[in-house]
Amino acid sequence: MEDKKLPLKIELLAMADGFAYDVAILDENATVGQYIGLLDAFLEEKVAPCIGCDLCCKQRIPLTLPDLYAYAGGKREDIEAFLKEKAVIRKSGVVYDIQLAQRDDGSCIYLDRQNQCCLDHGHRSLVCHTYVCLPQTKRARDLREELINNGEDALIGAIFALQLLEDPQGSKNYRVNPLWQGKSFAEIKLKEVLSPSVYEALL
Ligand code: SF4
Ligand code: SF4
Repeated sequence: MEDKKLPLKIELLAMADGFAYDVAILDENATVGQYIGLLDAFLEEKVAPCIGCDLCCKQRIPLTLPDLYAYAGGKREDIEAFLKEKAVIRKSGVVYDIQLAQRDDGSCIYLDRQNQCCLDHGHRSLVCHTYVCLPQTKRARDLREELINNGEDALIGAIFALQLLEDPQGSKNYRVNPLWQGKSFAEIKLKEVLSPSVYEALL
């Protein structure tokens, strides 16, 4: 398929100090799901597989709202069970953060430590899915960071709405975000969830 028919273009660019991967949006209806899918295709074609390396599976892995739906579904009781068994909720002041749980050695609970691979690779979170072991252009970095931050805030808002967190003070900082609420990555348009400055830089 030619680039012009794709909703986004992901490619390696020659920069003054070496190569960096870049992302451009070609279609205003491009979705987060398409971004993830095209990044997967780019990784497969251009980047060596992770076999034998699990470095980034020993870091903090924050979750976004669609990650939660992918792992736990949409029912309150299933979300509650997932949060208890597979996640950690951290609070700093009135700022919340929900991450995948880690073992005592800091490894992700989904890491197969023996074979150094992800036990649920196709289903991994937005943070894992969009991590690329390459330098990146500013707009590619801004896209990833803003999506993750907004998806995290949408997750905390949804958890407060389900009354799975009790903190009247903290809850004032988070709202249900209709642009993320109840949606999979395939249903979320980049144009709708990115700030105008980040979105326009990607055109
Ligand atoms: S993406 Fe992570 S696991 Fe894969 S090679 Fe890079 S640091 Fe290692
Ligand atoms: S979900 Fe998979 S890819 Fe992500 S940190 Fe855990 S083991 Fe690694």
